[in-house]
Amino acid sequence: MRKTTLQSLTLSFRYHHPCHHSRPQPCYRINMTKFPPTIALYQTNEDLWTHCTTVVAVRQLSQLPECDRSLFKQVGEAEHDKHWVVTTTETIFYAQGGGQPYDTGVMHTTLAEGEGVSGARFLISAVRHGSHGQILHLGRFESQGDGTVAFTPGSLVRQALDGERRGLNSRIHTGGHLVGLAVHSLQIPGVTELKAQHYPELSFVDFRGTIASAHREAIETRVNEFVQRALPVTVHWWTRQEVRDKCKAVPEGIPVAPGNGDEEMVRVVDIEGAGAYPCGGTHVPDASHVGRVAVKKISRSKGNSKISYKLVV
Ligand SMILES: [Zn+2]
Repeated sequence: MRKTTLQSLTLSFRYHHPCHHSRPQPCYRINMTKFPPTIALYQTNEDLWTHCTTVVAVRQLSQLPECDRSLFKQVGEAEHDKHWVVTTTETIFYAQGGGQPYDTGVMHTTLAEGEGVSGARFLISAVRHGSHGQILHLGRFESQGDGTVAFTPGSLVRQALDGERRGLNSRIHTGGHLVGLAVHSLQIPGVTELKAQHYPELSFVDFRGTIASAHREAIETRVNEFVQRALPVTVHWWTRQEVRDKCKAVPEGIPVAPGNGDEEMVRVVDIEGAGAYPCGGTHVPDASHVGRVAVKKISRSKGNSKISYKLVV
């Protein structure tokens, strides 16, 4: 891994919040910049499932600017005052993006790092990228009988994510890379990878170009060869030039566009022996952890092809 600062890593993979691309939204009338961007620890250490950090802000969902509040449509307006949004200096919780669902889990106050649990527990039901680089943890406080807020800015909290959910999301996500790399290795002419979605209920990879259904079996066989060979999965930080030179596919929406300076590094996942992608998601240590993959269907529309897949176990 190249030597680079955490700050530059954060910059190089910042999430492009919709507010940054549209007309000024109500959030711009509120001084949100007083909160620093959250350091997304899962980008530099995917294996951190617990971590101690500090609370930056605790707000009711109803107190958020509209563009951030609209990220949590699963909460009805009547419930906004019962849900809280916590931001911290760092987080291990994956914020939804890049086709991968968010992590869930718990944060609880601690006396000091390494000491026992004390006080309040915050149950996290969703995690999203908010405006100005903050990662927003949505949830409810447990045992909040008297209505007081259990965390305050500066509280030391221990984060613990739902490992079962993270493990499944990482397997499905890595499986999507294997599907893309299988298609690449079969050298089907005129086909380039576009984007992917790695949700348990619906997982697919989209390609520009036509992939005939007759390829389904060969793609599935190749994916499961990668699984059997337990190809190592490693994360690197490369320059934009290295990404262009060495990656098998640069899916749309990945922040490798020029204009942010030469020193920015791009996060890349390499399925060693099969190929590399720019990627901000979480992965398994090697392809055998994905387990057997079934390629369900190849569908074609308007010159593009969609390969749906699922984990067999
Ligand atoms: Zn990935």
